[in-house]
Amino acid sequence: MGTLEAKLAKEQRILSGREKGSANWKEQRIRVARVHEQIANARAVVLHKTTTMIVKNHDIIGIEDLRIGNLLKNANRSRAISEVSWRMFRTMLEYKADWYGKQVVVIAKNVASSQLCSSCGHTNKAVESLSVREWNGPACGSFHDSALNASINLKNEAIRRLTVGTTGVA
Ligand SMILES: [Zn+2]
Repeated sequence: MGTLEAKLAKEQRILSGREKGSANWKEQRIRVARVHEQIANARAVVLHKTTTMIVKNHDIIGIEDLRIGNLLKNANRSRAISEVSWRMFRTMLEYKADWYGKQVVVIAKNVASSQLCSSCGHTNKAVESLSVREWNGPACGSFHDSALNASINLKNEAIRRLTVGTTGVA
């Protein structure tokens, strides 16, 4: 993907050096579009491989229900792309889980899950933002990597939901 990004930057530089609307510019614009296409395809390949691997190797897949805003309202292109990737990722997980007879449990996003100590269940209000990467549970002293701790909470919640029967399976 890195080389494709470099290729895109190069083709875009060439495009910006050409007279807008000219035949050369139109030709170059198609080149740029082709690289965008290649990047999108490469992303899709990665998403397919990743989701197939996850679904084949796990019976229960817990995912966070990220609130994704309206893409059209989103001016930031790279953010919009990552949101599209996330949607594709989730869609693939869901239909592949269906194929393989696995379960996807969607957990509503809430800040509490990142504040919750996965070791003892204590809520650490000091963990307020995603910028906190690591913390020590004040109640039990456990060391946490924020992302890993939140993932463990997500997993526990997914299992709990399945156990009580409210699956939330899509
Ligand atoms: Zn704790």
